[in-house]
Amino acid sequence: MPRLDTIVRQPVARPTSCGHDATVFTAANGYLAVRGTHPELADGLPGVYLAGLFTDDARGFRTLVSCGDVLGVSLTVNGKALTHRDATVTHNERQFDLRKYLVTRTTTWQISRTTQLTVTTQHTCSLADRRLIMQRYQVQSTGSPVNVKLTARVTLRAKTRGEDLLAGFRSTASAGEVATLAQTRTREHGIAQHSCVVVDGAANAKCRAKRAGGTWELQTTLKPGRPLTLDKFVAYATDRDTGEDHAASATSAAQLAAQRGFTAMLGRHTRAWRQLWRDCDIQIIGDDDNALALQYTIAQLMAHTPRDDDRAGLGAKPLCAEGYRGHTFWDTDLFMTPAVTALRPDLGYHLANYRYETLDGARRNAARFNFAGAWFPWESADDGTEVTPTYWLHPDGRRMPITCWQYEIHSICDVAYAAWDFSLSTGDREWLFTKGVEVLLETARHWASRAKYNARQKRFEIHDVCGPDEGHERTNNCAFINVLAAWNIDRARATLDMLKSERPAAYAELVARLGLDQRELAHIRRVGRLMYIPQDRKTGWYRQFDGFEDLLFVDPNSAAERYEQPLAVEETQAVKQADVVMLLYLLRDRLTRPQMLTNWDYYVPRTAHGTSLSAATHAAVAARIGLTKAARQFFTQSANMDLLNWRGDSDRGLHGAAMGGTICAALFGFGGLVFHEDHLSVDPILPAEWQRLRIPFTYQGRKLLLDITHTGFELTFRESGTPITVTTATRRHHLTPTRPLKGRLARLCGTTSSELKRR
Ligand code: BGC
Repeated sequence: MPRLDTIVRQPVARPTSCGHDATVFTAANGYLAVRGTHPELADGLPGVYLAGLFTDDARGFRTLVSCGDVLGVSLTVNGKALTHRDATVTHNERQFDLRKYLVTRTTTWQISRTTQLTVTTQHTCSLADRRLIMQRYQVQSTGSPVNVKLTARVTLRAKTRGEDLLAGFRSTASAGEVATLAQTRTREHGIAQHSCVVVDGAANAKCRAKRAGGTWELQTTLKPGRPLTLDKFVAYATDRDTGEDHAASATSAAQLAAQRGFTAMLGRHTRAWRQLWRDCDIQIIGDDDNALALQYTIAQLMAHTPRDDDRAGLGAKPLCAEGYRGHTFWDTDLFMTPAVTALRPDLGYHLANYRYETLDGARRNAARFNFAGAWFPWESADDGTEVTPTYWLHPDGRRMPITCWQYEIHSICDVAYAAWDFSLSTGDREWLFTKGVEVLLETARHWASRAKYNARQKRFEIHDVCGPDEGHERTNNCAFINVLAAWNIDRARATLDMLKSERPAAYAELVARLGLDQRELAHIRRVGRLMYIPQDRKTGWYRQFDGFEDLLFVDPNSAAERYEQPLAVEETQAVKQADVVMLLYLLRDRLTRPQMLTNWDYYVPRTAHGTSLSAATHAAVAARIGLTKAARQFFTQSANMDLLNWRGDSDRGLHGAAMGGTICAALFGFGGLVFHEDHLSVDPILPAEWQRLRIPFTYQGRKLLLDITHTGFELTFRESGTPITVTTATRRHHLTPTRPLKGRLARLCGTTSSELKRR
């Protein structure tokens, strides 16, 4: 059985899954990521990506740039080249130690009847030294001495989606080191890569510069029991993050690492991870597979979150492959940001800031279509302007238009929701009053300029939009959008009122700078007040959009293949992914259980779960409702989205929304946590298969631990902090570091909704 902190794979058994494995074994540190390809045969799309480094491809589409391949090492033994695919391989295994965040690969070849050769490689991106990728390649033999030739390779050049997005390479070799410079295709940014190689067990390697990198070659006779070790230190820097001296930054990072040595550098890295795990170690006890999958999810989400650059987003396929060109979607705002913030608010801060930093681009998007305020784009890269590719190429060469970005405008209220949610989770008033308020106001302003007044019904409506269910593209009065737009306006109003009373000068400066007069403010409020909410008052049922119930009911699974022909789906009630159910998740503290059940019972049989986002949302909502069996099933799917390649496309990158959503399902679903402005509420639940769930999290600066078992739960301070009010289903409690809260699991649970309704 695998250790609970280590993913173990024997990839030789599954030669077709190399792209998937390369994604699973990706290592990242928030600044860069390297895909986990095999050194001898990089057959899983090698790639290094740097957060925020985009350029335009030949068609003008903004694309995250692949910055080379650094893990390559060729191995020749007694004149014969070896790879992990050879018939002579007797053992081949890769492990991802999640505690140390280190990938180890061990391959053994039978060289002759009596001689075996084993290569152990390790690689990671250092969490302590952000610019650095490090790799150890160690060869040892048993039996007779063998002649070994190693060629270590580093290149800055790599195709991105089949195209060169870097140009103007210049490489120089000196004193065994290779420095390479290049520019992005459009000459916007300069990039530097500096590599040092340290050898132990043989004479130094012969170093040569190539066009876009270098090689280090060595040959020796390997004696049994005398390992040969080659350590590679590759550092990156760009003029985006360092200014003019990026070459010097890369050089000093690589040289310093080489001087300190692999073991010392690994020590720095693992200490940084030990520190990180202290705040993130959510543990499931009693369900080993899910426990491990959750640990993997946490490690990868934390590893991919940008640390120090607020203009680098966190893509839907976070930094580890070419999927979605590295673009940021609503996946970040509603799935990843809340998870990261609850575990490490200092990291969540960068994600929240990314939207603030890209406000100007969002304003330009709105102005382009004569709307006011900010239109946060469907796909965002480095400046917040809409970057969804405008077409895709049919295999027969036709340009097929992509239009969804014009209608999937829920990205706007998703960003606003995330901004408010960030301020609730962190209690960061300063952020709310200097940045959050502007995001909330500009988005509210946008809704007010977009909503149409229906004089007959005396209400505002929003037309021609597409909700999270992308199967129905141009609809009117999508419940998800109307509800959140009204909520967005309400939060903007409340925040502006607070600013006015607490910081009048800042209020005056803001409204003057944004050119907001009293008339416009009154109009924004009116739109919020009169926004049409398509909900049945008696039951709480939401109509997904106008006319939804008149469409044809079909089994969504049989309808799934019809997504190839979107028109057919538009005529049915088949929902691609959580839509109204997503709304239930966001409104989780404002809806009653019967209201939630009514919507759940209606929409779940219509939902195809045709994306990676759906399972986590359903897990969280099922847990809130008390459907523990369904909650665990959806959770299992979400937590294993990439490890088990659930959607079959993990070769194109990890699924960020599933990673964030899985953590959110633990926090807000099973943990039953709700962050309010002035108190925390908690109402946990535990699936029968789990013995215990331990959730460390941070609420408004207090580091807390929620420990749930079947006999009850305990909420304690992990470190000293100021008291807070906590509410449970039955009482209010004054939580202090010395006065923990103990409670029982109060939520009714059941397997089916009819069972719950009976109770
Ligand atoms: C989903 C979107 C999601 C995007 C990126 C699409 O398949 O339908 O909701 O934002 O993938 O993950």
